[in-house]
Amino acid sequence: MGAPGSGKGTQARLLVDSGGYVQLATGDLFRDHLRRKTDLGTLAQSFMDRGEYVPDEVTVKMVRACLGEIGSGTRVVFDGFPRTVAQAIALDGLLAERRRRLAAVLLFEVPRERLLERLGGRATCSDCQQMYSLAIRPPKREGVCDRCGGPVVATARADDSPDVVGRRLEVYDEQTRPVVEHYERQGVLRHIPGEGSIDEVFARVRAAITDVDSSFPPNGAAA
Ligand code: AMP
Repeated sequence: MGAPGSGKGTQARLLVDSGGYVQLATGDLFRDHLRRKTDLGTLAQSFMDRGEYVPDEVTVKMVRACLGEIGSGTRVVFDGFPRTVAQAIALDGLLAERRRRLAAVLLFEVPRERLLERLGGRATCSDCQQMYSLAIRPPKREGVCDRCGGPVVATARADDSPDVVGRRLEVYDEQTRPVVEHYERQGVLRHIPGEGSIDEVFARVRAAITDVDSSFPPNGAAA
């Protein structure tokens, strides 16, 4: 969890690239529907363009379908889900149905000024969706994705315009902050200071989940 620009997507991808996890990123799933021009993509776009959340029912249905395709022994990193208390309650139900357990919730904490800076110069790889901040983490070769070699396009996200960024931060405060309390009550929340280099933050992530890593078999290990 974390506000837009807190680095959660980048860190989730690092975790996946380091092995042992698959990623379920609702923002990426919506953008994929958008590219494929599905009905869900068209519906999602009308909300995304305004910086609003896609309705819970639609989002949960998509996550349910996606989880259904992931083997029960597979470790999953959720990125950008749940974003509302209703989604968090729905996720509790989805996991209980599958006799699965939420091991930890990581909250990336970054001061508001830094978020605005980061969101200002964002760029995305058109192929693998890796996100870059042109201000703090540009690709090593200009315009070329470090991860897959695809084209990196500045302000590829319509929802990174200044008005929409402001609205996304507001919506985060209104709708997602209460989710933090939901997980604090469950005793699964872990705070990750999100400032510093990407590698420094990733080291904090690893340190925060050493118990998870040792108590769940990584993906690919014998069942
Ligand atoms: P993200 O890439 O995670 O920043 O998501 C981009 C946009 O997709 C958000 O601003 C929302 O409009 C939509 N979105 C992503 N995840 C969710 C979610 N869990 N619930 C509702 N809308 C979402």
